[in-house]
Amino acid sequence: MSHHEHDSTDCSKVIHQILTFIDNELDDADCSVIQKHLDECGPCLARYDLERTVKSLVARSCSEKAPEELREKVMVRIRQVQVTITESEG
Ligand SMILES: [Zn+2]
Repeated sequence: MSHHEHDSTDCSKVIHQILTFIDNELDDADCSVIQKHLDECGPCLARYDLERTVKSLVARSCSEKAPEELREKVMVRIRQVQVTITESEG
């Protein structure tokens, strides 16, 4: 009972691999699969975007002082993206 012909790549699988993808630790083959999926899947792209943002903020806050304000902004953004993902999954 599949209503739309979607990419054979599973969203949950992609989300699993996003962190590895961001770290550039995926094989070339896996990389292109993830990249292709992100081009076609809004929620996964949002998730990818979020993970990248969080990662760069964390990296920056390791070298600088981590302002409390920044942490809050990240948390708000995480919540927004989660809402988006939940809504689109129905
Ligand atoms: Zn997806």
